[in-house]
Amino acid sequence: MNSGSAWDSALSQLEEAARTMDLDPGVLEVLRNPRRALEVSIPVRMDDGSIVVYKGYRVHHNTSRGPSKGGIRYHPAVTLDEVKALAMWMTWKCAVVGIPFGGAKGGVVVDPRKLSQAELQRLTRRYAYEILPLIGPERDIPAPDLGTNEQIMAWIMDTYSTREGYSVPSVVTGKPLAIGGSAGRGLATARGVMYVTLATMKHLGMSVEDARVVVQGFGNVGAGTVELLHQQGCVIVGVSDVQGGVYSPSGLSPQGLRTHETAAGRVMGYEGGVLIPAAIEGQLTERNADRVKATVIVEAANGPTTPEADEIFKDRGILVVPDILANAGGVTVSYFEWVQDLQAYYWSEDEVNDRLRQIMERSYVDVLEVAEERKVTMRTAATILGVGRVAEAHVTRGLYP
Ligand code: GLU
Repeated sequence: MNSGSAWDSALSQLEEAARTMDLDPGVLEVLRNPRRALEVSIPVRMDDGSIVVYKGYRVHHNTSRGPSKGGIRYHPAVTLDEVKALAMWMTWKCAVVGIPFGGAKGGVVVDPRKLSQAELQRLTRRYAYEILPLIGPERDIPAPDLGTNEQIMAWIMDTYSTREGYSVPSVVTGKPLAIGGSAGRGLATARGVMYVTLATMKHLGMSVEDARVVVQGFGNVGAGTVELLHQQGCVIVGVSDVQGGVYSPSGLSPQGLRTHETAAGRVMGYEGGVLIPAAIEGQLTERNADRVKATVIVEAANGPTTPEADEIFKDRGILVVPDILANAGGVTVSYFEWVQDLQAYYWSEDEVNDRLRQIMERSYVDVLEVAEERKVTMRTAATILGVGRVAEAHVTRGLYP
């Protein structure tokens, strides 16, 4: 049934949850459709004097539980459908961990590595200007995602603030500390993945020291996850990035990673181990799911597993800890950052990490309870939990007009 796009996956996951929870068909119809989607053209003066027009998007999926929240992605393969899927996942994610946000996402069709810093700044400021009608501390709060970073968030904050005439740090999260960022935000997604991985191991009775972990992706999330799980005593046997992979059955050290021999294509997992896809959507599909050797998959990326692969993992008894739970640490600390900015009162890193741990551990148990009660996968359980909370807010508010 599925053409394999992120949007198809997101819709099929929603429908599966709706079926299990007997969701009102009218409410399902509301939740299937993003609230609004903006497509913008971003003309940029390049360093050589020429003008290139880039395409960008910002999608608000749902705002029933609060202002919408979600990252901005710079990637050459960005499409409106992909941004819609990522925005929908943000809605469920915020509801699963119980933070008062709806879901949004933005994207620009660009390879940021091909731009100079000056070009990247001009692109970012013009994109921020074009999406101004949609963003704001009470409206919609962007953050980093694939291909963006804290410097890009600083430029967005500055563009918005210049228009307002005063500094508005709370318009964006994942900012540098110097302008109102939160301690602990940089590693927050990876730290959340670590807490959820440890909770999974505890639940399955796996020993942390004996666990063999493979991570796909060595960006902000992947590299951070490798470092934090290594600190916990897990043996990292494989890591890959877009160029290829490194593999060592006796374990890789985060520092020594680059010196190891490369063995591309080994990211599929290691017997009795944990596979952590931390790159991009659509990586585990019906074409490779039967070759995965791991017993647990923890989704640090958004949407790495297609519904067809999910079916295969279910049949094979492989536990998939879904993205909307596993990678929710990033947006959780984004929420802390927003709260700190609004109060102009900043917390210590220990305070941030401790509150994050509590939320991730509690959310894991919440999802597990639904999974056991309804006898469904962790993904369907998490989606039921998220959709249920959003539907309750939607129904309680009532339909306008
Ligand atoms: N881009 C991250 C995600 O996919 C973080 C979003 C945020 O902090 O708003 O969850």
